[in-house]
Amino acid sequence: MNQRERELLEEVADLLAIEEYRGHRLHSALQRLYRRHLAQQERLERLVTIADGFQKGAQQDLQETRQQLERQHRRQHKLSRIADGFQDLLHERNQALRDVSRQDPLTGLANRRCLHERLEGLTVGTARQSGTLSLVMLDIDHFKAVNDRHGHVTGDRVLVTLAKHLMGSLRQHDMCGRWGGEEFLLVLPETPLDKAHLLVQRLTDQLRGLRIPADGDTLSVFITASAGIAEWQPGEGYQATIERADRALLAAKRQGRDRCCLAEA
Ligand code: GH3
Ligand code: MG
Ligand code: MG
Repeated sequence: MNQRERELLEEVADLLAIEEYRGHRLHSALQRLYRRHLAQQERLERLVTIADGFQKGAQQDLQETRQQLERQHRRQHKLSRIADGFQDLLHERNQALRDVSRQDPLTGLANRRCLHERLEGLTVGTARQSGTLSLVMLDIDHFKAVNDRHGHVTGDRVLVTLAKHLMGSLRQHDMCGRWGGEEFLLVLPETPLDKAHLLVQRLTDQLRGLRIPADGDTLSVFITASAGIAEWQPGEGYQATIERADRALLAAKRQGRDRCCLAEA
């Protein structure tokens, strides 16, 4: 109720209180109107109070809902950060697992599975580009005797030393893997047979000078290796090239070891 209304009501109340107006026809009509107005005013004020209460409640509800949403948002953010972390970890683990499954644990070289994968793609690419590719099967001579004489630990050291030497001697796009036991497969892309021959000769020459400590460094082990080289032929599966390199290796062994033989096309 504003000031003017309040003054008007006071004025009416004053008029109704004047004794000499009582009994006047307008007095009783004004009095009824006045009471009715007061009753309505009271009802209105009650309604306003209720509405205010509702509004306050609604605001509180809104505030709580907003806070709840913010909390939920923060929690979700935290959870998604944790999930991202787990995903990264899983990715790293998978990558590590994939690397391990393609690597020879002793020498760190590519294992046979990895070599197969690489050769599969390489022969397709070489065929498409009409390129050349040579494969070399290299095997340590009389390796069993190294184990027998100096023990397996020294034998392992020989394998690791040879692997390092091979990796250090090859060109960047060449590949070297452990095919099995003391047998290594060299993959030489863009290399025809004659060039592969020169490369392997240089490698096996260097091998003869490789000193590998044994028996607590009181002795040295020297090794030689035999190799079979085959050049991949267009239309040939790489497995067939490996078989030809294998047969050439056998020929090198039969001819007295410490040499390399070339496979016929
Ligand atoms: P050849 O000149 O005919 O190749 O004779 P070799 O003695 O080298 O060949 P053979 O196949 O008779 O023996 C290979 C040996 O390699 C036997 C095996 O115990 C050894 N060998 C295979 N894998 C490993 C390995 O991981 N560590 C060690 N220390 N020895 C191994
Ligand atoms: Mg051998
Ligand atoms: Mg062998």
